[in-house]
Amino acid sequence: MRCPCGCGRKIELLLINEAEPRWDLLLDEEGRPSLAPSVWLRDGCHSHFWIRKGKVRWCP
Ligand SMILES: [Zn+2]
Repeated sequence: MRCPCGCGRKIELLLINEAEPRWDLLLDEEGRPSLAPSVWLRDGCHSHFWIRKGKVRWCP
């Protein structure tokens, strides 16, 4: 996925069990993805956000 802040950075999220860190991807009944935990970029744009039902929720 691309960083939702618009910086153009490509973010790779690992979903396999052996990865560290890793994320859980959940799809609701309409196929909208939610990710847990939140995504926090420790460098660059420092974006910190959640994906909930296919939408980006920025962390304050
Ligand atoms: Zn960004």
